[in-house]
Amino acid sequence: MKLCNGCNRPVDYSVCTVVSTNRISPRFQKCSKSIPLCMTCLDAFVAGGDVQIAESLRESIRPAFTALVQHVETSFKSQQVR
Ligand SMILES: [Zn+2]
Repeated sequence: MKLCNGCNRPVDYSVCTVVSTNRISPRFQKCSKSIPLCMTCLDAFVAGGDVQIAESLRESIRPAFTALVQHVETSFKSQQVR
């Protein structure tokens, strides 16, 4: 069974973020790895509490963001070649 990222209780929800390009067409988007959370921790996070969860979410966004930046750079270069 999956355990909560904040407190190791059983998981109630998974939270993931989506980063997408806004000025580049076709739109490219990347979903972050999901963070498993229990009801209590998600509730506390939404209310502005738990710092550890904020850190986990920030860390989960990084690979998605990096992949997006690389994709944009690659497609920009291939457009210049044409
Ligand atoms: Zn929890």
